[in-house]
Amino acid sequence: MTDPRNMAASLASDLPDILAMTERVVNIDSGTYHAAGVNAVIDVWAAFLRECGFQVSRQQLANRGDQMTARRRLGEGRRVLVLGHADTVWPAGTVADWAFQRDGDWITGPGAGDMKSCVVMALHAIRRLLHEPPSGIGSITMLVVPDEEIGSPGSRAWIEDEARCADLCLTLEPCRPEGGVVVGRGAVGALYIRARGVSAHAGSSRAQGASAIAALAPMVPALEALTDTTRGISATVGLFRGGSARQVVPSEAEIHLDLRAADAIGADRLLTEARRIASAAPTDPRVTVAVDGDFYRPPFPTTPATHRLFSVAQGICAELGAPIHEVVSPGGSDGSFAAALGVPTLDGLGPITHETCSRRERVEVSSIVVRGALFGGLIAAVGANRSGI
Ligand SMILES: [Zn+2]
Repeated sequence: MTDPRNMAASLASDLPDILAMTERVVNIDSGTYHAAGVNAVIDVWAAFLRECGFQVSRQQLANRGDQMTARRRLGEGRRVLVLGHADTVWPAGTVADWAFQRDGDWITGPGAGDMKSCVVMALHAIRRLLHEPPSGIGSITMLVVPDEEIGSPGSRAWIEDEARCADLCLTLEPCRPEGGVVVGRGAVGALYIRARGVSAHAGSSRAQGASAIAALAPMVPALEALTDTTRGISATVGLFRGGSARQVVPSEAEIHLDLRAADAIGADRLLTEARRIASAAPTDPRVTVAVDGDFYRPPFPTTPATHRLFSVAQGICAELGAPIHEVVSPGGSDGSFAAALGVPTLDGLGPITHETCSRRERVEVSSIVVRGALFGGLIAAVGANRSGI
């Protein structure tokens, strides 16, 4: 099935199944740190992919859910890599007070948009596509990542190994409102600054104390001042904590600094400057400061090949009467790993989702069918060499 309008018609008849599977997996708590829940979600998707003729393997990741690789070889042609994840930002217990719910054209629930409905949409589109496998596609490989929401620290090498064998990468993060598809992303990093001083009673023995909070506090405005939004650079102290009680000179304090940059040069400079500020010797020599962290998501450059893929997506959306526009995001995703290796990558191919990763996260039900047809149509178009990739 290669005509996106036919694909949309077929997916429209699958919509009750898509919603039922989405409800099933949304109602499984699968925060990154809840390995059993992540694996329960993967069980559902692995079974579906096996029925579609995929070979499925799972690799255990220490203290996390499994890494699932599903591959279907089709013959000669382009090798398509599809990236999804089973984890969410929501801790165990969230489903108990925020279960899957449908309200008119919206569905909500933990991870409904990021990205359970996205993977379920893609699975059904792939099944429809494989009823008549498109020519020119050598293989479809789908990875389901268990630790994406914390930056995929345990999955990066595995994703990069698969990306090196791929001709293009389609990433299933949710589509932005009004049809925003991601063609580029900035680099994302974190710096952790931890101070250790000497505790003492704030009244009777204050002079014997050395405050860890006082050592770190002056860094906050200096670090934030590295932000230059005109150059796509930001440094944000997202967490600053320390101390144990009002009347005790604090012996512990820490800063978690979020770092974002539009490109690799900006990222290098920002990291160097932030480290310089964080490593300045504390006024009180009894306080020690330890600094660690780095950029963990590389920049996702918008290459000419990515533009060509986007043009094909625009053509498909025109046929479907669906909105689409380019988005360059300051946030990272697993697609960044593939794009940084030069693999033409599009991201944001899931259903349209609003206020992602908030309690107000909600998915436009009416977008599921058309975004699924876009996703399937892209694979068919690449096979037909309409992208030049
Ligand atoms: Zn996501």
